[in-house]
Amino acid sequence: MRRDGYGQCFLGPARGLTSAHRASWLLAYGPIPPGLYVLHRCDHKTCVRPSHLFLGTAADNARDRERKGRGNPPRGERAGRAKLTEAQVRHIRSAYAAGARQCDLARELGVHDTSVHYIVVGKTWRHVAAA
Ligand SMILES: [Zn+2]
Repeated sequence: MRRDGYGQCFLGPARGLTSAHRASWLLAYGPIPPGLYVLHRCDHKTCVRPSHLFLGTAADNARDRERKGRGNPPRGERAGRAKLTEAQVRHIRSAYAAGARQCDLARELGVHDTSVHYIVVGKTWRHVAAA
């Protein structure tokens, strides 16, 4: 599955003190002030695109989770065979165009690197344009 050389990354599980999105913020914008959380503008909790991240307080964090939990009820795709929604496919295409790595997008959305690769090269989901 690594034969094409794409999708290599070994960030480790995004948990603990240095989660992937905090590391991403650190690299892009510098140190995170004590007590602040790195939150997502997009609805993907493991997304690491700096442009999708912003700083907030614990209260913001809680509000954000609540809002996203309500705003994005699982739809049919969870029950069916499809692993991704059209919105996620658009997210992959636009994030990839903005410089995201395929492996990070795969991790973010919980799919295989190959699925992301097929999407960005247009082998699958061809009817869905980038956002
Ligand atoms: Zn994102």
